[in-house]
Amino acid sequence: MAGEELYPRKILQYMEGFLVSKTLFCACELGVFEQLHESPHPLSVSELAPALGCSEDGTERLLNACVSLELLNANTDPSGTVLYSNTEMSSVFLTKSSPTSLYNSIEYSSRTIYLCWHYLNDAVREGKNQYEKAFGVNSKDLFEALYRSDEEMVKFMHLMNSIWNICGRDVVTAFDLSPFKCVCDLGGCSGALAKQCVSAYPESTVTIFDLPKVVRTSQQHFVSPQDERIAFCEGDFFKDELPQADLYILARILHDWTDQRSVELLAKIYHSCRPGGGVLLVEALLYEDNSGPLTAQLYSLNMLVQTEGRERKASDYSRLLNTAGFTQVQIHNTGKIYDAILALK
Ligand code: SAM
Repeated sequence: MAGEELYPRKILQYMEGFLVSKTLFCACELGVFEQLHESPHPLSVSELAPALGCSEDGTERLLNACVSLELLNANTDPSGTVLYSNTEMSSVFLTKSSPTSLYNSIEYSSRTIYLCWHYLNDAVREGKNQYEKAFGVNSKDLFEALYRSDEEMVKFMHLMNSIWNICGRDVVTAFDLSPFKCVCDLGGCSGALAKQCVSAYPESTVTIFDLPKVVRTSQQHFVSPQDERIAFCEGDFFKDELPQADLYILARILHDWTDQRSVELLAKIYHSCRPGGGVLLVEALLYEDNSGPLTAQLYSLNMLVQTEGRERKASDYSRLLNTAGFTQVQIHNTGKIYDAILALK
């Protein structure tokens, strides 16, 4: 704060951070970006409010906050009426139909993660997730709790899906994976990363291994039969035999689990993996000195509130991989949210 008057700018900004999140959630959920996207011309508050089924006063405040957040443009026409339109960033990331839409992630953040974070104090005190308090469900089986209804499961799958359209290419090309022709994406969910993988490596095939109801939903709603190089296998990776593969992908899997369960899974993979084959971990890595990145630290708190796991450092993953038998661990920081670690058998 040297040279600045004593003013708690950062603290105020952090205190009010949730107001910004809620403004974004609200504008998405009420359909602001969608309405503006569908309109052939910019809209005034008096046109937009009835279309959204909202009060004019409330809508005007929301729109103006979105303008300040650079999510909307506002221009005044010759008659003095303010006309609103989406910014380019909102068109690309906030409209439902955009291939890089974050709409579903935002909806999941608003309706699930935000509710869990209400119990962050309890999560920190107790050192465990807060499904019981947030949703009244037992979390003994983590994914039974996460998938407490089919609707919740589909929402979660959309959440998982969206990020790989934005940074999936970076993680699958972090290393040259072309020597691995037969790939198994364990916990491959909606198949978004599998699609990135087959697109980056024309000679590879990817089998998505996941819980039966996830596989069925992925086949019905996310992966088309035309994606001929993507296959499916239903199962429980802790209990069932794993498909044979040259490379196993574990993207955002180990961060759900304790060290003990992670080693259990990695050892199982090691056993199924062909000699010379490998495992690719995709996770948000913490710095070795624990000084950041902030996103990974916040994700680690989110793992506390929502899962049995945590975000880890590269050295933590190396240790888990070595314990399971893997060697030649290589780390690649992508500079985006998710990083990649490759290890060989
Ligand atoms: N890999 C995907 C991604 O990065 O988008 C999804 C990650 S998600 C956090 C965890 C995935 O593991 C979910 O698809 C979930 O259904 C799957 N999963 C959880 N427990 C599993 C189990 N015991 N056997 C197989 N899949 C499981």
